[in-house]
Formats: sequence, structure tokens, C-alpha cells
Amino acid sequence: MKKSPWQQRIRRAEELASVHPYAAEMLRFYALLTGFQEKLYRKLETASNRTPMPASHKQLAGPPELPELLSSFGEFLSFVKEVGPARSAEIADELKGQDQRSWGGFLNQFWSGSAAADSSESESLFARSFLQPYAELLRHRAAMQWPGYSHSLCPFCNRKAGLGVLRQMGDGGQRSLICSFCLAEWSFRRIVCPSCGEEDNRKLPVYTAGEFDYVRVECCDSCRRYLKTVDLTKNGLADAVVDEIAAAPLDLWARQQGYSKIEPNLVGV
Ligand SMILES: [Zn+2]
Ligand SMILES: [Zn+2]
Repeated sequence: MKKSPWQQRIRRAEELASVHPYAAEMLRFYALLTGFQEKLYRKLETASNRTPMPASHKQLAGPPELPELLSSFGEFLSFVKEVGPARSAEIADELKGQDQRSWGGFLNQFWSGSAAADSSESESLFARSFLQPYAELLRHRAAMQWPGYSHSLCPFCNRKAGLGVLRQMGDGGQRSLICSFCLAEWSFRRIVCPSCGEEDNRKLPVYTAGEFDYVRVECCDSCRRYLKTVDLTKNGLADAVVDEIAAAPLDLWARQQGYSKIEPNLVGV
């Protein structure tokens, strides 16, 4: 049987954890988180078959509609408390002490894209990892294609890109962006900053280094933002989402050069 996308990511995370000891803890947590997300996805899929959702959703409308979603958040917090890195486990414990209403509050805020105003970074990170499977489910249901779409925000949920990917096309690589939330992928021109739209290639330096020579740190000297792009033409075994996480030393390097990431990944880097 063909492995699900979650199973493929888990397997890749385990492989990378065994060769990059510094990233092992992070990758193992990511693998467990991905397992949790797959289970949640399946549960929501079943629940939404019972309560049909409007089929015409072409965009992420809010707030999230399934009661099964909010009722699973406590389980998610217990999971992070048990297996998450120390700091996340501590936050999960604090959040467990709040009531369902305040959970609903910050989850809805994140969902509607207004979280930045008054939620903490860690609440946003929790909301993102927990709500992601539902966003993916709605995106799969909407079965959208985006021919000709050329903007820098996600065509489905309007979020920023979390990473880029280069896939073989003709003699070169075609760049796509991957949404930091619903994981939609859409084509995006190579010589354009996804954050500010800069098109002057002298202001768009690209760095690669050492053992991650297939991961490009694509920077912008106009807005000082960056994202990492996984070059599948150089490493066909890579899984863009997972390899982006494993290449954490490049994030450290980019921050030291004064760049900040367009959007953090699922482990908050
Ligand atoms: Zn999206
Ligand atoms: Zn820029």
C-alpha cells in the first residue's frame, strides 16, 4: 500500500534524525507531531462526512466548523505535554489550565488570520500545528487548481509561504512556494522576494552551505527577510517540508547575518 504523505514525512524525519544528531530531538518531535496530525485528519475526515461541509468553499472561511475539532484540543495539549520539547510541554501545561472558551478564542483568531494582534508566538505555533490538518482537509475537499496564480500569499488560505521547493522543469528548476499553514503549493517566479516583491537579483542573494548544499537560503537585502528552498533537482530523496526543518543550522546562520524568516516552521524555527 502506498504510504500516506504523513507516513512519508515521518519516515524522512526518522532518516534525517539518525544522520543529523543536532536536529534529532526536533525531528523526532516533528515525527510524533505528524503522527498526531494524521490521526486528527482522519478523525475530522470521518466527522465531516457525517456533517457535510459546504462544497463551494474556495477559500478558508472561518471560524472552524467541526465540534470534533475543538474537543480534540485537550488531547493535543496532553500529547505535547508528554512528548514535546521542555518549553512547549510547559506551555501545553499552562494552556491546559484554561477553559475551552479561551482555547476557542485563540484558535478562531489564528484561523481567521488575526492572531498576530494579541496572541503570543507560542499560542500561534500551537494553533498552527493543531489546525493544520483541518486546513489541509478543507483544501483537499475544495480540490482547487491555481493556473496562472502568481502572488506571494497562499491562494487558498491567504497565509505567507513557509518554504520553497525547486522541481525539475526542462533544463532548470521551477520554484514553488509551500504555504506555512495549509501546505498548498503554487508556482512562484525565482527572482522575486516573496516578502516584499523585490526583483533586482543583486539584492536577492542565495546561500548554500556544507552538508545541506541542496537547501538554498534565499535572502532579500531590501526587506531583510529570507526563506529556505529545498532543491529537489539536487536531492531527489528530500521531502521539502522535513528537510527544511532539518536544515536548522542555516536558519541560525541567516539570523546571524541579520535576516529574519518570513514565517517559522512547525517546530518554531
Ligand atoms: Zn494555505
Ligand atoms: Zn524582500
